[in-house]
Amino acid sequence: MAESVKRVRGVHDILPEDAHLWRFVEWIIHAVMATYGYQEIRTPVFESTELFIRGVGLETDIVNKEMYTFEDKGGKSLTLKPELTAPVVRAYVQNHLDREAPIARLYYLDSLFRQERPQKGRLRQFNQFGVEAIGSSHPEQDVEVIALAYDLCNLFEPEGLSIRLNTIGSTEGRANYLAQLQTALEPYAAELSELDQQRLRANPLRLFDSKSPATQALLDEKAPLISDYLTEEDRQNFNDVQDGLKALNIPFEHDPKLVRGLDYYTRTTFEITSQQLGAQDALCGGGRYDKLVSQLGGPDTPAVGFAAGMERLLLVAGDRLKEKITPRQPDVYLIVLSDDARTSALVRAQELRASGYTVILETLRRSTRAQFREANRVGAKAAVILGEEEMKTDTCTIKNMTSGDQQTVSPEQLSSALDAILHPPAEDASD
Ligand code: AMP
Repeated sequence: MAESVKRVRGVHDILPEDAHLWRFVEWIIHAVMATYGYQEIRTPVFESTELFIRGVGLETDIVNKEMYTFEDKGGKSLTLKPELTAPVVRAYVQNHLDREAPIARLYYLDSLFRQERPQKGRLRQFNQFGVEAIGSSHPEQDVEVIALAYDLCNLFEPEGLSIRLNTIGSTEGRANYLAQLQTALEPYAAELSELDQQRLRANPLRLFDSKSPATQALLDEKAPLISDYLTEEDRQNFNDVQDGLKALNIPFEHDPKLVRGLDYYTRTTFEITSQQLGAQDALCGGGRYDKLVSQLGGPDTPAVGFAAGMERLLLVAGDRLKEKITPRQPDVYLIVLSDDARTSALVRAQELRASGYTVILETLRRSTRAQFREANRVGAKAAVILGEEEMKTDTCTIKNMTSGDQQTVSPEQLSSALDAILHPPAEDASD
């Protein structure tokens, strides 16, 4: 046998036994998004590398270290998408969605790619669902987005779910803070990595995105808090967001250190974590990004969104959900007992499927015993049997796989006989 080719590091296969769980979770996400009036958007797997440089920023870990970037045969630099906000905003701008409606409530469920060091809960290809609400600058929009994220995460009943909330103010109010941050950290520059030193010089806010524990510890200890530098309007806005969440009984904690370091982020930032996750405890991250649409060439348009990790959600909820949902069992296993029945079996299976039944057809030409064993293994509720006798009399035999009862019927009677097996009359409780 030839040597097999293995999966590359940091990616995973979703095998059939898990795929139905994924479909179930995806179905819930689609349904909840619909109740909030969000519409699905799908963007290409790869984009021009420039989109992420402009839309995420060169000094971020994502762009600096983690992108899967390659040149196509025409020499154009392309990148597998490492995050989904920039592609969605690119699509919003390019397709002039602003002209179609004053607000675009968009959601996605998609794969993304980052060349990170793989570990539990951290993959190189993973899936996120999230929303981008583009058009409103008002606090009730932030509340709606946080409520939606919380609702969705909460539905899957993770343990120790909590929301951390902060505001990083508007860009106008931030200049003073940046200067103070730089001054406070400058004396410790030598302790930082090359990249973090560069961030300190160019835009110290981006230090908050650093994955270096040393940098994070320094920020914890020495960085001034952005909350001390907010404008009156920013403060009012933050109060309104908090009041909205309280009115909805959504629990949250103000974490003055929750800062997102990208230029286009403004005001609200939030994160939802679950204690069940351990080291990589973030289920969902989000916030307001009023400057991104214009930064990517669109009209000046405020926006707010979140992204949540599907794999992490399944880490916290998968086992419990698996117990609750059973994969759909086939209605019919079509057993073929003679050579002359093979073509009729193909035709009969197709007719039954067209009538809405799920049918598995024997294609391995196994013994009678082996075929019945297989019908049991796949959990078929009925077996339809075609053999020499049935061919001669133009009939089929149906076996109720639960009771073992068997009867021979004409092709016209097949459907009603099957229905009697698949939907037995409910037992009368008064008997
Ligand atoms: P981010 O886009 O980095 O803000 O991440 C948003 C969410 O995606 C996180 O809260 C995680 O749930 C998930 N996530 C981020 N990076 C990874 C990864 N490498 N593997 C699996 N899930 C991830």
